[in-house]
Amino acid sequence: MKAFFTDKLLSWNQLHNTRTMPWKGIRDPYRIWLSEIILQQTRVEQGLPYYERFITAYPTVKDLAAAPDEEVFRHWQGLGYYARCKNMLAAARQIVSEFNGRFPDTFEQIQSLKGIGPYTAAAIASFAFNLPHAVLDGNVFRILARYFGITTPTDSTAGKKQFAALAQELLAPGQSAIYNQAIMDFGAVMCRPQQPACPQCPLAAKCVALQQQTVAQLPVKSKKLVIKKRYFYYIVLEYKGQVFIRKRTGNDIWQNLHEFILMETPAPLDAGKLESEPAFTSLLQQTPYTLDGISAAFKQQLTHQTIYSQFILLTAVKQPAITDYMAVPRARLEQYAFPKTITDFLQNRSLGLF
Ligand code: SF4
Repeated sequence: MKAFFTDKLLSWNQLHNTRTMPWKGIRDPYRIWLSEIILQQTRVEQGLPYYERFITAYPTVKDLAAAPDEEVFRHWQGLGYYARCKNMLAAARQIVSEFNGRFPDTFEQIQSLKGIGPYTAAAIASFAFNLPHAVLDGNVFRILARYFGITTPTDSTAGKKQFAALAQELLAPGQSAIYNQAIMDFGAVMCRPQQPACPQCPLAAKCVALQQQTVAQLPVKSKKLVIKKRYFYYIVLEYKGQVFIRKRTGNDIWQNLHEFILMETPAPLDAGKLESEPAFTSLLQQTPYTLDGISAAFKQQLTHQTIYSQFILLTAVKQPAITDYMAVPRARLEQYAFPKTITDFLQNRSLGLF
């Protein structure tokens, strides 16, 4: 059953796999790494232009390591999950400082880089160096759970161990690069999460889930995703052509990105009545202002959170005494990296204010 799996997968790859990507088949670990980081939690069509942009701006890992943080964040803008970008930069600098600018070529050294887990390390090790490490991502969990009829939850410790051992056993000796690429493509085009192509599948003859009619129930996950709602009210305070912003720090979302004066509330508020909120007046430090407008609500969906944002546009009538925020010329706002919701607001000209 295992030999059948590997043989059929490899011949499907050779005869029917027409999925093309700019990084497919290349051996340059830097490009492979960049594509893997950009594509985590991102659709290929969305990630592709970012990959091209990064390769053009930073053709080598040394170029990326030497780039200013702010510039790299701006290139990343719109991709979300900024921790990935931060880790990517840290890893590039780690390659320069610890490995003399040469991408490491063992699984352990690759995995020692910031932001690289077992999946990405296996992808780089196999694609760039043909090392025998099987990738284990959502695609692989799904295919193996269905083909072998495995009901152990993929997010349990036992499940992770079981799937990792099985994936490693299935790896074609000496062909890990081809095998890993084949299984990832197979998950994307054949054994898809919804409506898998079972009638055309070369594994169908031995697929346990197909025989037991459990395709739709597999793979099993034990935890349900809990999505938290958050309500952000951004005060866009302007004084003499300058607007107040700050860089987000700490362990929350959007680290290192910028934002306007933020008031977060546990429940939605009527933005028209915000001026009577004590938190609002305290944020403004008694700055006298005129109200220029209130935007519609913007929504940004993150993996574990939904962010609802509204923007309240004010003009201060005298120098504001705002602490923790810096005043920057309105015309220079585009030089700062912002989360998608603020970029959407800045690009939405309906208020006619920016
Ligand atoms: S038969 Fe269907 S469920 Fe089974 S491996 Fe093929 S595509 Fe996946």
